[in-house]
Amino acid sequence: MKKIAFYGKGGIGKSTTASNVSAAFSEMGKCTAQIGCDPKNDSTRLLLGHICRQTVLDLERERRGGEIAVEEIVHKGWNDILCIEAGGPEPGVGCAGRGIIVALQRLKALKALENVDVALYDVLGDVVCGGFALPIREGYAEEIYIVSSGELMSLYAANNIAKGIRKFAVRGSVKLGGIIGNSRNVPLEKELLEEFAEKLGTKLIAFIPRDNVVHDAEIHRQTVLAFAPDSSQAEIYRKLAADIDKNEKLIIPTPMEFEELEGLVEKYGN
Ligand code: ATP
Ligand code: MG
Repeated sequence: MKKIAFYGKGGIGKSTTASNVSAAFSEMGKCTAQIGCDPKNDSTRLLLGHICRQTVLDLERERRGGEIAVEEIVHKGWNDILCIEAGGPEPGVGCAGRGIIVALQRLKALKALENVDVALYDVLGDVVCGGFALPIREGYAEEIYIVSSGELMSLYAANNIAKGIRKFAVRGSVKLGGIIGNSRNVPLEKELLEEFAEKLGTKLIAFIPRDNVVHDAEIHRQTVLAFAPDSSQAEIYRKLAADIDKNEKLIIPTPMEFEELEGLVEKYGN
């Protein structure tokens, strides 16, 4: 099984990119699962056509640690993609990171991903909390892709995630597979992201343009692959999935110092 995780700054486009990549993997004939590790439960919305109605943690609360059937937490989405949402605590109560731990442990105990070819974890956060680091810490995911634009704060988050990966890569099997550029139309963004990736010791595996078709598809609760299968944007997501599939350059990243990162952004900003 290929075990992948997408990390990146909040709102950068992780769930959208993950859903389109999952859709592309399923088109390749692979049994694909997308696991949302985010208390908002919205990771799989574009695959299910609605916000997931039953998360792992909803059931944990209801059953108080009692039995849960696989079918209750694994929902079939577009092209038979398996959609799972870890869920979270009630807003304002409890720790979301701790929730992710409980949810992933339950998935493991149920062997819910036994027959899956590709498991894609969509993880909120910048690896500041143990819960969100869990997918990389405990070997749930082995190949990490960081979604980033060319904006400083997005690169800052990406660099912090690289620090997290470096920390856990030393004793586990987790590696960085690349940077996925998701454009915010910053000047010379592709060149900037290419140099950033190189500094970390990895590569820019895709540069995804900002395109209104993503927004239109989102309004229709669909991925771009389902909504506009012949569009150039759909082709970009398909190529990304194919490149992830054959990616052999998995590395332990070398994160940058903040001043160096600022300097890099300044260089391209002028
Ligand atoms: P969060 O951290 O809150 O989970 P996220 O990183 O998962 O956020 P998304 O929800 O995937 O981010 O995307 C945020 C918004 O950006 C969405 O409205 C999405 O449609 C839009 N978006 C993402 N990628 C693109 C793109 N390439 N072109 C146009 N719009 C995009
Ligand atoms: Mg998301």
